[in-house]
Amino acid sequence: MAQKAKPIELDVAVVNGVTLTASANRMFEPRVISEYDLSALDAVTAIDGAQSLGYCYQCGKCTAVCPVDTAGGDYSPRKVFRRTQLGIDLLDSPDLWLCTTCSNCLRVCPKEVNMISIMPAVREQAVADGRAPQELLTAFENTARYGNPLGEPARKRADWIRRAEVPVPIMSQLKAPVDVLWFVECYPAYHPRGKDASVALARVLHALGVDFGILGSEEKCSGDSQRMAGEAGLFEMLAEHNIKVLSKYAFNTVMVTDPHAFNAFRHEYPKHGGDWTTLHYTQYLVPRIAQMELIHPINRRVTFHDPCYLGRHNGEYDAPRELLQAIPGLELVEMGRCRENSYCCGGGGGGMWMDGFTSEHVGMRLSERRVQEALEWGAEVLAVTCPYEVSRFEDAVKSTGNAGLLQVVDIAELLAQSMGLVEARV
Ligand code: SF4
Ligand code: SF4
Repeated sequence: MAQKAKPIELDVAVVNGVTLTASANRMFEPRVISEYDLSALDAVTAIDGAQSLGYCYQCGKCTAVCPVDTAGGDYSPRKVFRRTQLGIDLLDSPDLWLCTTCSNCLRVCPKEVNMISIMPAVREQAVADGRAPQELLTAFENTARYGNPLGEPARKRADWIRRAEVPVPIMSQLKAPVDVLWFVECYPAYHPRGKDASVALARVLHALGVDFGILGSEEKCSGDSQRMAGEAGLFEMLAEHNIKVLSKYAFNTVMVTDPHAFNAFRHEYPKHGGDWTTLHYTQYLVPRIAQMELIHPINRRVTFHDPCYLGRHNGEYDAPRELLQAIPGLELVEMGRCRENSYCCGGGGGGMWMDGFTSEHVGMRLSERRVQEALEWGAEVLAVTCPYEVSRFEDAVKSTGNAGLLQVVDIAELLAQSMGLVEARV
């Protein structure tokens, strides 16, 4: 019978022929971080949804891709973790409001520190404690009172259709099923440049013979950005309202203009009982390119800004590019930061309503950084397909002193121009 192996002496190690006793072997006491007061970090990671902040092991990959840091914000999940670890109360820190929930850090983080979950969870608590920036609270109040963050009257939500000069049926008046229920959203309904894109898209749909309708004043904000900014209760109220309204009507597909609404319809509304086939308008139009009479060339160098909530959050990078490449004469140039690694306009996660607050903590607006990039890559036109972006980038073109050098247009406007449905903008 084989002899049992002798147990290894755990308290002795032989290294290069030198026997080390346990005390010499260890040299140091086990290194623990309990010398720090971890109560600030523990308070955050105890919040449901924010646990993953504690997973950070400080590799720094996120800092390289965070648009807030690139714009001079001294910011990233790594830095948020470290400051919280050192005792700074995240609920009272500007750090809590600077993240745009663009999701680029999550894409590269080996530990899956998830700011898309952390930020809304911690912000919700700060909002409940009355510790949110006033600009954001105003946007919340407007949304709750009027159904849109701009504070515009609900009855004016469909006023833009008068400018369309083509029929834009409103479901409550139509009283008939449609193929496509177009969920327009707030900025395309109220903002002057958003309305330009809505008019263009309505004319494109009409030219294609699409059977569509809109909700008009029955529609309220999808609420997705308010949710990411910490107002989960308001989001639920809006979701329930919209789902109830949509459920009254018969249609095959929901088409949305806004990537934030797209995100809500795809990922959040189904949890509340609203589960429909939903397409961003670029996705709806791609299979119809052959039917579009794109006859007027647009001889311009155009670059495309991927919206975070269409690209990284929902994986659609190709549809906008296919539409742009179908326009005769148009030269599409890519910026270095594009597709999965696209930059952020600064409007997501409530950033749309916190420009004043953000400017106190970040060197320049994220939209200004992006406009500079577009120019560095030789673009004459910056094409967008998220309603937050037209106004943000147009302001940034002016504030960086580049008026006249770069035009910002929605893809719907470019298509309509090439089809001869609107006056040339570029
Ligand atoms: S990439 Fe993830 S683990 Fe690395 S520093 Fe950033 S948050 Fe921490
Ligand atoms: S989600 Fe975007 S803005 Fe927020 S920390 Fe990550 S990279 Fe920065």
